[in-house]
Amino acid sequence: MNDETMYILAIDQGTTSTRAIVFDHGGQIISTGQQEHEQIFPKSGWVEHDPQEIWRNTRKVVGDALVGAEINRHQLAAVGITNQRETAVVWDKNTGEPVYNAIVWQDTRTAKICDELAGDEGADKYKERVGLPLATYFSGPKVKWILDNVEGAREKAEAGDLMFGNTDSWLVWNMTGGVNGGVHVTDVTNASRTMLMNIDTLDWNEDIAKDMSIPLSMLPEIKSSSEIYGYGRKQGLLIDTPIAGILGDQHAATFGQACFEVGMAKNTYGTGNFMLINTGEELVRSENGLLTTVCYKIGDNKPIYALEGSIAVTGSLVQWVRDNLGLIKDAPEIEKLAEQVDDNGGCFVVPAFSGLFAPHWKADARGAIVGLTRFHNKGHIARAALEATAFQSREVLDAMNADSGVDLTELKVDGGMVKNELLMQFQADILGVPVVRPKVIETTALGAAYAAGIAVGYWDGEQDVIDNWAEDKRWEPTMDDETRERYMRLWNKAVERTFDWMD
Ligand code: ADP
Repeated sequence: MNDETMYILAIDQGTTSTRAIVFDHGGQIISTGQQEHEQIFPKSGWVEHDPQEIWRNTRKVVGDALVGAEINRHQLAAVGITNQRETAVVWDKNTGEPVYNAIVWQDTRTAKICDELAGDEGADKYKERVGLPLATYFSGPKVKWILDNVEGAREKAEAGDLMFGNTDSWLVWNMTGGVNGGVHVTDVTNASRTMLMNIDTLDWNEDIAKDMSIPLSMLPEIKSSSEIYGYGRKQGLLIDTPIAGILGDQHAATFGQACFEVGMAKNTYGTGNFMLINTGEELVRSENGLLTTVCYKIGDNKPIYALEGSIAVTGSLVQWVRDNLGLIKDAPEIEKLAEQVDDNGGCFVVPAFSGLFAPHWKADARGAIVGLTRFHNKGHIARAALEATAFQSREVLDAMNADSGVDLTELKVDGGMVKNELLMQFQADILGVPVVRPKVIETTALGAAYAAGIAVGYWDGEQDVIDNWAEDKRWEPTMDDETRERYMRLWNKAVERTFDWMD
């Protein structure tokens, strides 16, 4: 393959936007197309996306990225897809129309379904089999909600007319022709977030699907993260281009960060935060509120597992400060506002907007701002909002150290928030370990590009990822232990105040 003139395209179907990025053989970004989509909030706690809008945006950003790179589809060796996980799309395979909006991972409407499924056995009922606690976060209960609540959906599902997928499956099906023979697949990492896949054998668990009354015929075929699933089609997108990589966004970032050795970890700072630690071929079951998940699987190789700490609200708290409080005009401005004060002055923000995820898993927690006095101003609120991300990440890191039995010595970071230098320094201070940012912070798209490129022989394997990874900046901890522990003590008190807030 002529590597000079060939490129890899990654489609990053994220929570707030869809991006298409063209990468060259050195893993460098050549061009980007990006389009935000509407966040639909029909009720408190509900979050939806329009799957058709996402598909339209995907076609647009792919076109924009190719134009930006001044290349055509013949110069693409392969396409890789990475996506917001857990977000559930259910569509009619005969018409191609979704039967309902996509129910987004942050949506809490399935709390009752989860409680009912848990019954007397509790939230860990399926944990041994799927690696996850029963929580509103995952796709399975969302699919059940759609079948239970959308008129006619259950009958259609039972007749074999409906398909389910996270947004990876939705895009691949459409790209490969949709109603004209589209391929219905997902990869092991996405499947590991549905609550429906056996974490050890990597196939669908029929008993759990039955408990959730989800017909198996709706489920996509589970594939590895790096193989040719199909080719773009005329009725779809990118005619004849192999679609050769799928990784859930956090798994893709772990891959793009070259965390290939046991014990290597990354933390992605986006809408939420997601820390993953590679546990190799060993399936580690958490005793500290982490999830067991598939990290990636390259072709026929054995799967590599990870422990994950998922935090629901980090960057979206910055959006809230911008949109709901109106304290800033854009997200980067929060840094300037936070710099106006020396410290948080004793004020803490706990953004339990969707309950609390790892390590607490409290669906009925709700957010709080505590420690206020007449002294506090908007600078303190901005600072406390940023610090909330660092505190939550520390809680997850503590859980990882406890589960893995080894203390992390540094943390690789990526995602939209890592441009914020004040946050990165505070993060290093609160963790007590260095924080390292790579040159390419679009590691999610990069990971998907590598998975696709490896499948078609554009790259040889993981060593290329390691060779291309380069450090941009490193923050060393400067805070003394006593101050750090005081911050954590107060943070813990603030967190406890958010528990059991719902009637
Ligand atoms: P996602 O992939 O989840 O859509 P991104 O990785 O694009 O998210 O990151 C976007 C998030 O980062 C937004 O929630 C935004 O509020 C936040 N963000 C972006 N820039 C900054 C910044 N300079 N400081 C703080 N937060 C930021």
